[in-house]
Amino acid sequence: MQLYNTLTRQKEEFKPVDPSEVKLYTCGPTVYNYAHIGNLRTYVFEDILRRALEFEGYLVNHVMNITDVGHLTSDADEGEDKMAKGAKREGKTVWEIAEYYTDAFMRDMERLNLVEPHIKCKATDHIQEMIDQVKALEENGYAYVAENGNVYFDTAAFKDYGAMAQLDKQNLEAGARIEVDDNKRSPNDFALWFVTSKHGDQDMQWDSPWGRGFPGWHIECSAMSTRYLGEQFDIHCGGIDHIPVHHTNEIAQAEGATGKSPWVNTWLHGNFLVLEDDAKMAKSGENFLTLQALIDKGYDPLEYRYFILNAHYRKELRFSFDNLDAAKTALRKLKTKVAKLGDKEGTENAKYIEEFSAAVSDDLNMPQALAITWNLIDDDKVSDEDKLATIKKFDTVLGLKLDEEIHFEIPAEVQELLIERNKAREDKDWAKSDELRDKIDELGFEVHDLSGGSEVRPK
Ligand code: AMP
Ligand code: ZN
Repeated sequence: MQLYNTLTRQKEEFKPVDPSEVKLYTCGPTVYNYAHIGNLRTYVFEDILRRALEFEGYLVNHVMNITDVGHLTSDADEGEDKMAKGAKREGKTVWEIAEYYTDAFMRDMERLNLVEPHIKCKATDHIQEMIDQVKALEENGYAYVAENGNVYFDTAAFKDYGAMAQLDKQNLEAGARIEVDDNKRSPNDFALWFVTSKHGDQDMQWDSPWGRGFPGWHIECSAMSTRYLGEQFDIHCGGIDHIPVHHTNEIAQAEGATGKSPWVNTWLHGNFLVLEDDAKMAKSGENFLTLQALIDKGYDPLEYRYFILNAHYRKELRFSFDNLDAAKTALRKLKTKVAKLGDKEGTENAKYIEEFSAAVSDDLNMPQALAITWNLIDDDKVSDEDKLATIKKFDTVLGLKLDEEIHFEIPAEVQELLIERNKAREDKDWAKSDELRDKIDELGFEVHDLSGGSEVRPK
């Protein structure tokens, strides 16, 4: 398999350290709010990677973290604590916020048909591992305790700091920072352990050799991935925004603590989902689109998945409802064609399997994999039962539930309008009934008046 490695900036033949098991770590969500559809694009890309590795015959051990402490609003150490911000916003404790949004994230994963990681690890359950890694960094001369009592990573002491991101230390230091922490020896240094919180009422606190406090965000991932996958492993993923700060700092921590390099052989990063006017998708403000918001507009989550698969993961993807509509139409058409194949058992078509394998092995070329799926379904030379068997095999990577009936959820608002309309029809108020049909239509659904009553379906 050829995968594009951010470390070397090229496609490379993938070779796991231990051929019997690929060790994969994907950075998980910070559970202070719902995931937005941009975040979800990254998780779909990681899911495709996991499924593609399995398609190619590898056994995968997949670990994902849940960040429930320590992540400040800036990926560097500035700003507010994200969890505390969520708690304040909703008048709940940080623990309640973490539980609620972890559940919401799991629901989104299920709706997008993401294969569950083998291990999902919460940061708050692994404080000891983090403390141990910070202790190792201190022993190896990579950490210092500042005047305010916080422990920082000493980036000047780590020779290769920023190598993956190709960061130029001089430029970085000269770069303007919003808020410079005077306790740091260099603006690149980052917190490993906080004893002094800018947010005096920090709820989440633990004892440590440096005093009561809480971990920095980056130490979570390096400590937990090392705990579950070992001191050196195969693949680590996230969105491209993680290259210059989060993953750069993770590498410094892991390699500084163990003295082994490279910590991870292959780094894969998914490009961003952007909005039509290039606006950034943010977890606050009006540019915050959730999967539930798409469902409320009448979309099936798998239509969003199809939309994502249409673009290569390393390309920026522009979101628009028009593009999502096109994906919806295409997926429906594909599913209708698959439904017509019947249910006889066939044999996988070797030529198509080979083509599909070549596409996914070429750095996860999913647009090509989808094109092959369409070619197969329209190929007169392949029997229906063989098409079905082959499509089912493709679907172990696509994850579009191609052989299942189209499923859709009807938003509460539409259901209420339908009830009202049924009542209007009973009262023979045809004008009102038509008016309500138009309202339902505006929400993206059409009404079908059947003998046993009316029902709605997405348009
Ligand atoms: P967070 O919950 O903020 O830690 O982000 C979760 C994941 O989503 C990370 O891997 C980010 O790199 C990724 N991410 C954030 N914004 C976007 C976006 N607009 N498009 C794609 N991925 C994103
Ligand atoms: Zn991470």
